Amino acid sequence: MTPGAFRPVPYAVVGNEVVEPTYEAECASGEIACCENSGPHRDAGPVERWMRRHADDTGHRRYLRIFSDYVLVRRGGPVPADGGVP
Ligand SMILES: [Zn+2]
Repeated sequence: MTPGAFRPVPYAVVGNEVVEPTYEAECASGEIACCENSGPHRDAGPVERWMRRHADDTGHRRYLRIFSDYVLVRRGGPVPADGGVP
């Protein structure tokens, strides 16, 4: 290998199941965005119900859906079943 050259190192991005994902929606309707928010939920159902209710109440039809979760980035090697969280 050439001195100073980097050898490619495999990385794996894996879900961190210790922390549950979060679902959320924000109203993006109007010339000045409404920005009302569903608040964070543990699954998509309550977020969809909030969007339907908000749409019925306001006529707003455009939403930003937000999904967030934690992942672990591992350098090479197999990932332990527990995600390697101490
Ligand atoms: Zn709205």
